Amino acid sequence: MNTYKKLVFDGYEEVIECFNSEIGFKAWIAIHSSTLGPALGGCRLWNYGSESDAVTDVLRLSKGMTYKNALAKLPLGGGKSVIHVDPKKADRKKIFKAMGEFIDKLNGRYITAEDVNTSIDDMSIISSETQHVASLNGSGNPSPMTAYGVFCGIKASVEHRLGKQDLNKLVVAIQGVGQTGQRLAKLLREQNCIILAADVNKNNLKRLSELIDFIPVHPDEITRAKCDVFAPCALGGVLNDETIPHLNCSIVAGSANNQLLNEDNGLMLLERDILYAPDFVINSGGIINISCEIHQTYDVEKAKLLTAEIGQTLTDIFKQSDKKRIPTNIIANKMAEKIFMKSKSANAIS
Ligand code: NAD
Repeated sequence: MNTYKKLVFDGYEEVIECFNSEIGFKAWIAIHSSTLGPALGGCRLWNYGSESDAVTDVLRLSKGMTYKNALAKLPLGGGKSVIHVDPKKADRKKIFKAMGEFIDKLNGRYITAEDVNTSIDDMSIISSETQHVASLNGSGNPSPMTAYGVFCGIKASVEHRLGKQDLNKLVVAIQGVGQTGQRLAKLLREQNCIILAADVNKNNLKRLSELIDFIPVHPDEITRAKCDVFAPCALGGVLNDETIPHLNCSIVAGSANNQLLNEDNGLMLLERDILYAPDFVINSGGIINISCEIHQTYDVEKAKLLTAEIGQTLTDIFKQSDKKRIPTNIIANKMAEKIFMKSKSANAIS
């Protein structure tokens, strides 16, 4: 049986801990903000070092979702759930059934979806206990739409920084050619880009070579590769004090989450005159895609149209950044805050 405990954190609407002694699992759901609508964010399964690491993660991730969903113009707030278990020892059926009960307790204030270490099959188990689960009603794997959103973001970045409306002969260096990087590479190659690609997994490079021609680069060299666009599509923290001085590009635009090791690295990029497309804006195609099946019938064309708007959002961010000489990551945060804070005060008045 699940037991629940409310936790209180400044700036968060609702944080709940769930414990199930029979299964031996602990999980947390954090709703950072629901001013724009029910809080949407994935369910992550991770073997954290400690319970406090898990709580820190759910707080950080749920807040990130508020910002992401706001700038993606979705009628959705920000939330996240994390399950603290060892994936190798997990009895997934029992765990996701318990998680479904947990989510159902929030009566739709939180909607879950796939995330790191969770799959469509896990979401199906959750759906046996609650209807508040997305990604099962047509939207499917979010990666193709994430890659398409990054592609649209690269086009907007190139137009803004290089004044070019097409991508012909543009050199793009992609770090990581997994689910999103591989699809991005294909979209760019179709526009006659020259692709440099690195991956620590040789199988993924082999798979890419079956799709397109590209120049392989050693994973240790990709951040220094001479290119127009560097596209991080693997790890977080890749833009840091060590890598930024050696970047050899005009634009950084890729799918990876948390690309900046810390917020100050955005300023370093500005000072090096490198245009940075904030990660949580350019990689929002996947969440936009998922949102298109919530309270509506999924329509891929609608999802594509909404995802393409990432380009305009980025252009607005770039223009404000140029005008004020403020890093794009800071501008993006402020724009998101303006959207959800405005909605908060409107809700308070009505
Ligand atoms: P993935 O695991 O399918 O691909 C990542 C690839 O990066 C793998 O092929 C891996 O071998 C490679 N890689 C890891 N370390 C590397 C290194 N040091 N150098 C080069 N390559 C390395 O993941 P994905 O779904 O493509 O996601 C990539 C990033 O985008 C992640 O940060 C993820 O959180 C983010 N993201 C993904 C989605 C999505 O829809 N999949 C949505 C939003 C954000």
